[in-house]
Amino acid sequence: QTIGANLDATVARFGDREALVDRAQGLRWTYAVFGEQVDRLAKALVAAGLGRGDRVGIWAPNRAEWTVVQYATAKVGVILVNINPAYRSHELGYVLAQAGIRGLFSAASFKSSNYVAMIEEVRGDCPDLEFVWVIAEASWSGLLEGADTVSDERLQMVAAELDPHDPINIQYTSGTTGFPKGATLSHHNILNNGYLVGEVCRYTEHDRICIPVPFYHCFGMVMGNLAATTHGACMVIPAPGFDPAQTLAAAAEERCTSLYGVPTMFIAEWALPDFSEYDLSSVRTGIMAGSPCPAELMKKLIAAGIDEMTICYGMTETSPVSTQTRPDDTFERKVGTVGQVCPHLEVKVVDPVTFKTVPRGVAGEFWTKGYSVMLGYWGQDDRTAEALVDGWMRTGDLAVMDADGCLRITGRIKDMVIRGGENVYPREIEEFLHTHPDIVDAQVIGVPDEKYGEELAAWVRMRDGAEPLTPESLREFASGKLAHYKIPRYVRVVDDFPMTVTGKVRKVEMREITAEELG
Ligand code: ATP
Ligand code: MG
Repeated sequence: QTIGANLDATVARFGDREALVDRAQGLRWTYAVFGEQVDRLAKALVAAGLGRGDRVGIWAPNRAEWTVVQYATAKVGVILVNINPAYRSHELGYVLAQAGIRGLFSAASFKSSNYVAMIEEVRGDCPDLEFVWVIAEASWSGLLEGADTVSDERLQMVAAELDPHDPINIQYTSGTTGFPKGATLSHHNILNNGYLVGEVCRYTEHDRICIPVPFYHCFGMVMGNLAATTHGACMVIPAPGFDPAQTLAAAAEERCTSLYGVPTMFIAEWALPDFSEYDLSSVRTGIMAGSPCPAELMKKLIAAGIDEMTICYGMTETSPVSTQTRPDDTFERKVGTVGQVCPHLEVKVVDPVTFKTVPRGVAGEFWTKGYSVMLGYWGQDDRTAEALVDGWMRTGDLAVMDADGCLRITGRIKDMVIRGGENVYPREIEEFLHTHPDIVDAQVIGVPDEKYGEELAAWVRMRDGAEPLTPESLREFASGKLAHYKIPRYVRVVDDFPMTVTGKVRKVEMREITAEELG
């Protein structure tokens, strides 16, 4: 099925139910109204001469119009290219040119950045860019005026020519380990992933999903929007950008049943001084993903009554979800693992060098194959060939498959440090550092070293008022507990770690900073 056909079915079935609430704009649309908005824009795209295979970008924070663009482009076969609202002119120019974008939906401005001015800056270098449409403006820079010239029949004919396996979306990866890559995804990839993730959360038309995660990322667009529309559930947009208080206010006042976020978002929400004022009694489930869930945090969620919270693991290249905990899983599974393999997927854990499958309980690289694997990286055949082996996606993540079929993520291959010939997994040392009474959070990286090839450096956040950690005090603490070669030689005390917008620690940046400091 195509995304457009699936939405039509939901509109026909649940037309009078609420589809979307945009709190900042005070908008509330039923599925019938949402369907009309989508069709109007779809017709306008046809009138502008855009169709199957053309690339159109969207560069805007979360708002109702974002979802209209998502479904309208899918309906006419236009490949939507999601652009991070945090990008600035240089990165924007790269994406516009790399994906050969013909039209760009843009916000006028966001967080004191003038988007229109940045587009003008790079426009000269983007020969394919014919149209720029500012979405909050009346008639979207004139685009919507064309809608009336296209009939319902014409739109149906356009939709009927599409194939579920057509590319429909280019999503850039978070850029945690380097420059973002454009994963090209089909209707089939993301529609099924959104649907199946929603099945685990047991969504029906009575669910209301609070989505504070960005739509430009697969978390918001697939696990949020597509999981909602495939089940007739309601998408609730708390604010254009993430704000902990507005998120909880939306969850409480909209009587949401599901709450999303990366761990850092939940931590910020639960740390609000007036946290107990928000009535979260309607929230039963949700999804936490992107990085590991700390045990303390899961305890707090359960204490707040959200005991069906699920943990998802995946990557942009796999639409994104590969494993998910079940709502009724034990506490140990929810914090120690990323759950069971999602339906209709094949997985294996292999030795990263020989590609031979390793036994259960042994760490290796996690590979997955099936409906969710991307078509490839847009315009980067060499990188596609490295990432896909006989249809298997090499995730680059190190993992262990437990005896009971639950996956544990133990790190990233790129983060693995080879010190004097010994493989060191930073995650193991980070967990050890967490046992230090004065360390609140820790990240470990490898930095170049003449003698050992690489040396370990620890970045730590200390408890308020604690004595700052030094290499000497660390050595003293670790001696007798950790093999000598695993004890970090360098220590840096920080207030925060460099993070991506999707809540992941940017170790690349940490490595650059530390290497520079060490000269
Ligand atoms: P890039 O590929 O550009 O370096 P990225 O891999 O961080 O960036 P995403 O596709 O957004 O970009 O993130 C996928 C990665 O996030 C996974 O490969 C995995 O390392 C990590 N991840 C996702 N979910 C979880 C989770 N529940 N627990 C631990 N790690 C997770
Ligand atoms: Mg990645």
